[in-house]
Amino acid sequence: MRRIKYVASVEPRRLGAFQKSLLRWYRKNGRDLPWRRMKDPYAVIVSEIMLHQTTVATVLPVFLRFLEEFPDITSLHRAPVEQVKAITDPLGYKVRGRWLKEIARLVVEDGHGQWPKTVDEWMAMPGVGRYTAGAVVSLAFNQDVPILDTNVKRVLGRYFGLSYRDTSSDTLHQLWALAEAVVPKRKGRPFNQALMDFGAMMCTARNPHCRDCPILRWCLTPQGDASLSVAEEPFVYRISIAPPG
Ligand code: SF4
Repeated sequence: MRRIKYVASVEPRRLGAFQKSLLRWYRKNGRDLPWRRMKDPYAVIVSEIMLHQTTVATVLPVFLRFLEEFPDITSLHRAPVEQVKAITDPLGYKVRGRWLKEIARLVVEDGHGQWPKTVDEWMAMPGVGRYTAGAVVSLAFNQDVPILDTNVKRVLGRYFGLSYRDTSSDTLHQLWALAEAVVPKRKGRPFNQALMDFGAMMCTARNPHCRDCPILRWCLTPQGDASLSVAEEPFVYRISIAPPG
């Protein structure tokens, strides 16, 4: 169960600029990934379990092979665990095959073939933390729920001037609150995909593309070149993160 410690609110004009610019950038530059085309909880959970600590390029061929062998949750449920692990183990982090088998059992047997639809239900699944649950619920069901992984922390932290490198649980709660506040209504799927791709392709850990960044004008901490710092200072005071009232 998630614990809500903070609620964030961002000044609407600045928030709108962030949301619209990211969605516009994503429409032009977003990655065309097979699990996104499918918009199916099975494809999304398989991809998310494979993407734990593994790059998209490494996962792509394994994902396609997996879907050929086990095209749906029922075929995965029927397959012996060794057959599943034979495909997932070469990715490393060898618990993935067992997690996927257990998820298949929970959905097919306990859920009578019905997929969980909420973040809390997904977080009860093996191998599924709050990020993965948010990714599945937003990508498969287009719900307006937040995601927060290393890439998203970096984008939010730099743009809104929060300390994204601080690993304390209090900062993490604040970043989750901010991630929740920035998801536009009825656009959970494209917006979260935009955040994922923006963090992976533009606002990268090293050498971010600040000069070509569509949100440079409002970014509080552009990287590398001090001359890029053009955001208006009062912006920082227009974000408030507070315990829920
Ligand atoms: S200006 Fe640079 S640091 Fe700021 S959001 Fe864009 S890429 Fe990231």
